[in-house]
Amino acid sequence: MTMVRIIKRISPAVLLLALTVGCAASTPRVYDHLGEMPGWVDSVTIDGERYAVPEQWRGLRIGLPDEEEPFDLVNVPELLCAPGRHPRMRLEAFLAFRAMADMAAADSIHLRINSAYRSVETQRQLFVTRFAKGREFEEISWGVAPPGYSEHMLGTTIDLALGGNYEGNPLYQWLLDNAEMFGFYETYPPDPSNIFPWEPWHWRYYTPDERRLKELQDAHKAERAQTIPDRD
Ligand SMILES: [Zn+2]
Repeated sequence: MTMVRIIKRISPAVLLLALTVGCAASTPRVYDHLGEMPGWVDSVTIDGERYAVPEQWRGLRIGLPDEEEPFDLVNVPELLCAPGRHPRMRLEAFLAFRAMADMAAADSIHLRINSAYRSVETQRQLFVTRFAKGREFEEISWGVAPPGYSEHMLGTTIDLALGGNYEGNPLYQWLLDNAEMFGFYETYPPDPSNIFPWEPWHWRYYTPDERRLKELQDAHKAERAQTIPDRD
């Protein structure tokens, strides 16, 4: 039987289905983050030099315009700042922090902020000062987010003065017990895989909408982690 005859015998519906499936198979995949595209490597520029973003940061760029400050940054009152520090943060995050600090104070825990909003340029300078001490980009970026990747540019994230040891620290324990109630979450908890170092001082505020999204994302991540086989 010739090919033409075979095609004539196939019903139009089956032909349409075959064509549709063929098209779907050739549709390019849409990636959530450019960093997930095979062969694409995020990069940052510091002092005119371009650096490939290390693997642990890829796909984690904060989606904000680099040079635009949040419009509602407020100065944190001195009473809530570590000595000599002058942090600024977004109004909603500050109000949540103040409520949290009030409750902590009632438990004789005194929350003080070391650092909050940082522009991309300030983040870049953190690298420049470390370069001046002879340190390399890869090594610095294990503990310091590359410019454009720091949650501090959101204006909702704080570094607290913890004082003393981290293990068994009463202030840290108080945060673990209570911070979520005020919308603050620890971004870098102790992690046996050590992809990011533990930062018990670093807490990010999420709005109620963001919290709902975060819970969904966390559940998705946990599900995915269970399906990825151990690499050994
Ligand atoms: Zn931090």
